[in-house]
Amino acid sequence: MTDCLFCKIRDGEIPSEKVYENEHVLAFNDINPAAPEHILIIPKIHISTLNDLKKEHTQTMGELILAAKEIAKLKGFSELGYRTVFNCNEHGQQTVFHIHLHLLGERQMSWPPG
Ligand code: 5GP
Ligand code: ZN
Repeated sequence: MTDCLFCKIRDGEIPSEKVYENEHVLAFNDINPAAPEHILIIPKIHISTLNDLKKEHTQTMGELILAAKEIAKLKGFSELGYRTVFNCNEHGQQTVFHIHLHLLGERQMSWPPG
């Protein structure tokens, strides 16, 4: 997609602090972190929202979650724990319409979320 912020980050047209990358996903630091560690993990293919998921995206979505696990381990906060979040559309407060998994760590989270 041509006018998508995260596609531009994927293509290097907009700079980001890259944390992790493999064939399927890219992960970079959130520009406005909500925790001491706040990483966004995106699929390399453009999918706008969770509502657009199809069966063929099963592996891609699994790769996002596996990447979160891997990054938490690499960063050293997997044992203490962390929060992963997908926001969807207005009520979910999604602001960038390229699916991303938020990975938040290094602080105590609370529940329910705001
Ligand atoms: P959403 O609200 O869509 O779930 O999350 C979008 C996230 O992208 C927000 O946490 C926001 O801080 C982050 N973000 C927005 N613009 C940029 C950017 O240009 N670079 C990076 N690294 N993160 C961004
Ligand atoms: Zn995109």
